[in-house]
Formats: sequence, structure tokens, C-alpha cells
Amino acid sequence: MYDLLLSNARIVDGTGSPRYQGDVAVEGGKIAAVGEVSDREARRVIDVEGAVVAPGFIDLHSHSDMQLPEYPRGESMITQGITTQLVGNCGLSPFPVVPEKIEFLYNLLFFGKPKQLDWHDAATFMTYLENLPLAGNVALMVGHNAIRVGAMGYDEREPTDTELDKMKKLVADSFEAGVFGFSTGLIYVPGSYSKTSEIIELAAVGKKYGGFYSSHIRGEGLTLLDAVEEALTVGKEAGVGVQLSHHKAAGKQNWGKIKTSLKMIDDARAAGLDVQADQYPYTAGSTSLPALLPQWAMEGGVAAMKQRLRDPETYARVKQAIYDEAADSGASQFPIDTIVIARVGNDSIFKPFEGKFVTEIAQARGEDPVDTALTMLRDETSPIQIVVFIMSEDDVKEVMQHPLVSIGTDGSGINPGAGGKPHPRTYGTFPRVLEHYVREERILSLEEAIRKMTSLPARRLGRSDMGLVRPGCVADLVVFNPDTISAGATYQEPHQYAKGISQVIVNGQIVIENGVDTGAKAGKVLRHGA
Ligand SMILES: [Zn+2]
Repeated sequence: MYDLLLSNARIVDGTGSPRYQGDVAVEGGKIAAVGEVSDREARRVIDVEGAVVAPGFIDLHSHSDMQLPEYPRGESMITQGITTQLVGNCGLSPFPVVPEKIEFLYNLLFFGKPKQLDWHDAATFMTYLENLPLAGNVALMVGHNAIRVGAMGYDEREPTDTELDKMKKLVADSFEAGVFGFSTGLIYVPGSYSKTSEIIELAAVGKKYGGFYSSHIRGEGLTLLDAVEEALTVGKEAGVGVQLSHHKAAGKQNWGKIKTSLKMIDDARAAGLDVQADQYPYTAGSTSLPALLPQWAMEGGVAAMKQRLRDPETYARVKQAIYDEAADSGASQFPIDTIVIARVGNDSIFKPFEGKFVTEIAQARGEDPVDTALTMLRDETSPIQIVVFIMSEDDVKEVMQHPLVSIGTDGSGINPGAGGKPHPRTYGTFPRVLEHYVREERILSLEEAIRKMTSLPARRLGRSDMGLVRPGCVADLVVFNPDTISAGATYQEPHQYAKGISQVIVNGQIVIENGVDTGAKAGKVLRHGA
């Protein structure tokens, strides 16, 4: 007996090859047979009536790390067909927890608020996750910012030899525990205080483990091309593969530069570097409000930043720096008029700002928009998420059509109870590609889009047994109607689940059936090399 048989499927197998008609049999968490399956009975047979059966989607760009303790089902992710999330992106991971420097980790993760952390390193965080009722699989990376705060806090300087050795040790410990990669977020403090040589040293630790280097590069606006060059250099010098995160050109003056950056990726690939990129299918990005500040304003951490904003003279300098950057054509990554307040703390006095442009809030209050933003940074006690309208649709399409670009959410697994107005990518990334770019815009074939969601990211993880509908592969599967699949989430109403997906299957167990969470604890913590 098979455990499960999906019959009458249109199989899109993840390789990019044309779809074909057939059945998919599952047994013991693996795909047991594909095609004409009539040799054995199954405990459960689902006639999918011509729906597409594809490998479960693999999201290489998730920020669910700190959401998983609160939302272990990760509803916004699993309902869009994501069966595996890679967390630890943009230099952010919730480990290592170095007791002497813990306040700086709180800075990084919770805008300074202390919270109980029931783990201290990659190994204990993985065990912690394994004890949660996970719906989907989780793979981890270790983040540079977390490593750097563990060794040297929020200091704006180069590490001493001892500190660099300590950072290398922390990275090595994480790889020993089974992380897949080392990530940086080089626009964020304190990662932004590092030189390329430091990144090369740390990325090189992953080489002996077959780990890769993933980067939110040092600039996506005026300095995009230099930043891409830096990431490629790190890969070459450290001898590891490179994953360029959420590839884009930010800011009107920089639109079109992705033609050059994609060419740089092709050239590096031709020269033997294992480079890939990922992308979410929207013209708005999302980050947190401190990204607006000049780097020096964050030195010492969140408390130091707030102290600076309480001092009228320093406040004026910060404000001037933001205006100077805006005046320097194209230098500002997040121009003030592109920013929407997405989410603040649940008990925040700024709750009414959610879903509104900063300029709109400022106008209603009769103040300068930069003052609105700085007031929030000074007085808010929880992380302030923002949505920023900084990309062009032409660029989004061009990046999407590049064969080395996979689809990734840059979101995190939550449910509508989280509130606020998070970026719609949180719920709608993968369905939106299939709805808008495959069905409406026709810039990708269904098969190619699925390849970008499955076997391409699986290759980055070094998992040839994932991301394919093939006997012997892990039975992570998604069943959807290609004519109706759609993202319900919008900027104004982001807490909407995807439509048109009938089943999401993780390790052979049905986790989502017709939009309903079955409660199956099917997810695993994946360990690199295990
Ligand atoms: Zn990022």
C-alpha cells in the first residue's frame, strides 16, 4: 500500500521540462512512483482532476527565525505552497547568544527589548525548533550581524585579531551544527561597519562544510554595481558559492542598472563561480525604519541612537544627513516619500500610522516627514517595519526572466492575528508569480516559474532529493489550479491567504487541504550535510 496517491495530475516536475499527465504515489515521506501508477493500492487516493502537482516551493529568503516561536505553523508561508524556508537571511540570526553581549542581540532582533531566548547557539536553536509543531521544513543560515554583535557589540571599527578569531569560531560552530550558509546584511549596523576582508575571512569558514555565502549587499541603489562586485569577490576569494538576496535596483535614478548586474552574474558564472540570486515579485521592498538613518547614528545600538535623537544638536545633524543623502541624487536607498509604515508594536502610540505614507502622516500632523520618522525612532519601543516603493516593474520583470534567479519571499511566517500592514509578499509571493507573471503577463512559462521555485533553490541547498517530482525525492508537494491560483494579499489588505491551492504536502503528510490547516506536525529542521 502507498500512503497517498494523487491521480490525474498535470505533473510539473520542477526541472523546467514540459508538464505531463500522470499519478504521484507517496510512501514513507518520499515520492515512491510517478507516471502511470497502478501496481498498488493507496491508503488515500485523491483525484486531483487535472490540477498541477509540483514540488513544494523552497523559499531561500525567509525571515521567519524569530516568528517561528510564536507562529510555528507559519500560516502565511505554508498556505502559499512553501514547504521549506531558509532562514537567517540579511545577516540576521537569533544565535549565537553571547551572554556578555546579549543586549546587542536584543538590539538586533527586538529593537532593544529584552526577551527570553531559550537557546544559545545554532545547535540548541535547531533543537528548540524541533520541539515546535512545525508545518513546514526549516533550513538555517548564520548571520554576520549576530556574529559581530556577539564578538564586538555595535562598535564602528575593524575587529582585533582576537575578535576576528572569535567570530570565525562562532561561524564554524554554526556550520558544525548544520547551517547551510553564512549571510550578511551590509546596509545594516553593525555589519555595515565591516570591510570586505572581514567578510572574506568569515565566508571562507564555510568552505570546508560546502556552505555558501548569501548577501543583502552593501547597496542596492547608487552603489549597486560596486556592491555586486564585492559579493562576487567574496565568493571568489573565499571559494564558496554566492546567493545575491532580493536582487533589485532601488531608486528611480538607478533603475535599469540590473541589466549590468545580471551581466556581471553571468560573467562570474562563466568564470566558474557558483552564483545565484533571488527575488520577490513586487515593486516595493520592506525593511525596518532604522535603515533610514546614517550609519553613525546607530553606533552603540538602539539606546545610543535614541539618546542621540533626544539631544537637539545631534538630532539636527541626523536630520541634515538624511536630507543631504536625498539631495545627492540617487544616494538615498529609502527616500522619505517612498516609505509606508507597515507594522509597529501592538501597544504602540503609533498604531494609527500603519498602512500610511510617512509624508501623509506628516501632512496631517503639520510637520516635516523626516521629523515624523525620527520621532518614531526615538519613541517607539518595538521594531518599526516599513514598506518602501523603490523599484520599477520593468526591472522586476527583467530580473525574473534571468535563469539563475529563484523566487523568495523576504517575508516571515505569521497569521492574521499578527496585525499591522506587512508587505503582501508575506502571504502572496509564490502565487503572485504564477498569477501575474505566468498567467497574465506571460513573461515566464509555468514550467520555468516552477523551476525557479523548486529545483533551482534546492540546488543552492545542495539537495538533489528536493525540488523535484521524481521517485526517491522528498514528498514535499503542492497541488494547485493554474487557472485560478492567485495571491489575495494587497498592500492595504495584506492578511489574505492565497487562493487556488488545494493541497500542500510536507514529508508526505497533508498540511493544508482546501485552505485548512490539518494540524499535521510534518516539518523538519534540515541540517546541512546530514
Ligand atoms: Zn535583506
